[in-house]
Amino acid sequence: MCGVVGVINTKDYSEELASYATYKALLNLQHRGQDAAGIVSFNENKQKFKTYKNLGLISKVFKAENFEKLLGKSSLGHNRYATVGSDGVEDLQPIVQGYPSGMAMAHNGNLVNYHSLVDKLNYEEGIQFLTSNDLEILICLMEKGLMGMSPRPSSSECFNYLTVGAKKIFNEALGSFSLVGLLANGGLFAMRDPNGLKPLVLGKKIDEAGNESFMFCSETIALDFTGYEYVRDVNPGELVFIDNEGTLRSYQFENSKRKNCMFEWVYFSAAESTIENRSVYNVRLNLGNMLAKKLRPLITNGEISPDYVCPVPDTSRTSSISLAENLGLPYREGLIKNRYVQRSFILNSQTKREKALELKLSPVRSQIEGKSILLVDDSLVRGTTSKKIIQLLKKNGAKDVTLAIACPPLRYGCYYGIDFPSREELMANGRSVEEIAEFVGANRVIYLDEQDLKEAINSNELCMACVNNNYPTITDDAENFINKRDELREELS
Ligand code: SF4
Repeated sequence: MCGVVGVINTKDYSEELASYATYKALLNLQHRGQDAAGIVSFNENKQKFKTYKNLGLISKVFKAENFEKLLGKSSLGHNRYATVGSDGVEDLQPIVQGYPSGMAMAHNGNLVNYHSLVDKLNYEEGIQFLTSNDLEILICLMEKGLMGMSPRPSSSECFNYLTVGAKKIFNEALGSFSLVGLLANGGLFAMRDPNGLKPLVLGKKIDEAGNESFMFCSETIALDFTGYEYVRDVNPGELVFIDNEGTLRSYQFENSKRKNCMFEWVYFSAAESTIENRSVYNVRLNLGNMLAKKLRPLITNGEISPDYVCPVPDTSRTSSISLAENLGLPYREGLIKNRYVQRSFILNSQTKREKALELKLSPVRSQIEGKSILLVDDSLVRGTTSKKIIQLLKKNGAKDVTLAIACPPLRYGCYYGIDFPSREELMANGRSVEEIAEFVGANRVIYLDEQDLKEAINSNELCMACVNNNYPTITDDAENFINKRDELREELS
């Protein structure tokens, strides 16, 4: 999972440098990836791409002087969360390619058939890949489509050639990708995989002279912060191209269906964002209401008697509020989060996750001692966080802990960019709810079911493969994908 941004200032738009708007948008997408950050801009006067990228948080990677070099009317940015590839600088995004056309791209997602495509393109065409990032495959397929385009193409010529490249990607790349790209002298483009697994939105801003600036980005929070007005979501299987004059063209791949990742609402996206016209905050309130429906009978018949509702900070706070309101229970914060420590789930090794967790939460003893706690978490992935938190609550005198999870059990791996591709890593895989409770040390665990989640999001067009094993793409290469990922991580550790 990553954050992507693409900006183009059309005609003589002068309100803000494209690269600086990109930077501000990335600051608001930091929750989508904390491993590394990068920005590329195209300077039309010098006819050159300029890139700056490095490991670390966006605010650490970029200094004011970087923007003196990141000039031009168009720019791309990326916040990285590594699920394929290494932690090395060579795998950072955006990536620029010079032949047959100058092009830069950045993406959010994961190609399930990455390794087969690498082998095929190498064997059949002798192509050497220089990184272990699946973005390089997408660039390669797009560049194949651009073969034969003239050196100074017209806007319609750019779009026609991009469409050829996009069709190659849609037909050959399996998995998830929400990507942004820059074509030297052509303009800005964006694409979303045929299932629309990862979010991607378009926004627009107009300066006093009437010139426009467009931004594609992963979430609406970045549009709001940078003053762009939301225009629409990029559709699943759609290519959108905006040229330097601000003309927008779109191509729709026919074999598309909507299968949005439910985890964006449950955990990943910012509460302030709206995805597919559904507010993330409102969905999380709905999840709390759904949990209340499940818990009310247990409270009425005396099976559980919580003194209050307590969230595992931060994502589950919203569902906890509506759950508490709905059940007429007090809402208390028994755990306080140190805001300077990164999100533990998206760190890419178990050791890093456990270390982050130890530093992250501190107990409020006055609210814990002698209390029956209804603890709410957004999801239970590996169980690491919940187990440690429940130990912490019990160590500080909690009488008992009921764990309510605002998501169904995650029993199957995700191959689309959330870092749990192997089902063996998942706490709920092969365990009953009672066994899960025993493992995490809770007196009881309550989950939402699949239908509750659909109702809370108010959609039947969801990917819920990690819940129901119903994958929206062919997953023949999944085992290969997991093995190669593990080999690479071993090499690097
Ligand atoms: S498998 Fe789960 S986490 Fe992965 S894209 Fe589908 S819903 Fe999202």
